[in-house]
Amino acid sequence: MKKKHILLLTTGGTIASLSGEDGLTPQCSGVMDRDLQQLRIHYDITVRDILCLDSSNICPREWQLIARQIFENRAGFDGIVVSHGTDTMAYTASAISFMLPGIDLPVVFTGSQLPLSDILSDGPDNLRTAFAMAASGFPGVFLAFDRKVMLGCRAVKVRASNFSAFESVNARYVAEVSNLGLVVDESVLPPRKSLPTLQDNICENVFLLKLTPGLNPAVFDMLAAMGYKGIVVEAFGLGGIHVLNKGLRGIRRAVEDGISVVITTQCLYDSSNLRVYQVGNQLLELGVIQGRDMNSEAAMTKLMWALGQGMDQKQVAALFAENLTGEITEE
Ligand code: ASP
Repeated sequence: MKKKHILLLTTGGTIASLSGEDGLTPQCSGVMDRDLQQLRIHYDITVRDILCLDSSNICPREWQLIARQIFENRAGFDGIVVSHGTDTMAYTASAISFMLPGIDLPVVFTGSQLPLSDILSDGPDNLRTAFAMAASGFPGVFLAFDRKVMLGCRAVKVRASNFSAFESVNARYVAEVSNLGLVVDESVLPPRKSLPTLQDNICENVFLLKLTPGLNPAVFDMLAAMGYKGIVVEAFGLGGIHVLNKGLRGIRRAVEDGISVVITTQCLYDSSNLRVYQVGNQLLELGVIQGRDMNSEAAMTKLMWALGQGMDQKQVAALFAENLTGEITEE
């Protein structure tokens, strides 16, 4: 049988790091040669080093580069694997999910907690899972880690050092490796609503604010003065915010100024729902947008993307009611 042709785009991260005097430092794909040799038994692999960064340094500009590389190079490949540092991989995978609507092949992000140069690295296993998903024929943007595959827009890094670093939050896994091989749950695959396009404009003026008891509402005025166009608020529980002592004043002014304010929850699991409590309903009356069961990474990147497409407050609100790529559970 003809081998599947997989494009590997490398961006750095622990998986491709070597230990130096200053600590782990990302390298080009040469350090992956030994593992790629193994994978070449099963796949026809083309490698392109597009970045060489610790993912702490990956910003929206790099998301655009990655999105363009995927979009422009995808012809002739069955799937694409992107190796990436784990620290911001959930943000990148989520952003790319929005920037490439209708993507027509599997794009799989992966990395590792221990460099490939270490004999005990989790990297070889993660690469194997990522390549299997990339060869699966199921289009979408995914993240493969610890023998599991999840939607890029549902992935959250939940552990700093343990090998099971990522979880699919509020959504089932797309695939898991078992004694049957890679078992894909097709019901979790992202909806495909359009032909593939590259929509890579991103608005960087979006702020993620974690609410704390007694937070000074003037923070919202400060963000407006700094030119922020969108704010994601990680509120309490189902979406509560202190409404006493002028708590709502800042949000009201932000919404009146045309800023899109999305309310999510600081709880990792389950959905926010502003309709349950009086404090939530008061917020809804101000014109805030419900983030529902989106994780913060997805809410942030969806808002950055929506504002990057030039949408106004109303259009952003309408977009947040829509499930674009599996980021929210449809009611
Ligand atoms: N600091 C590294 C990075 O995100 C961590 C990792 O890859 O696991 O690039």
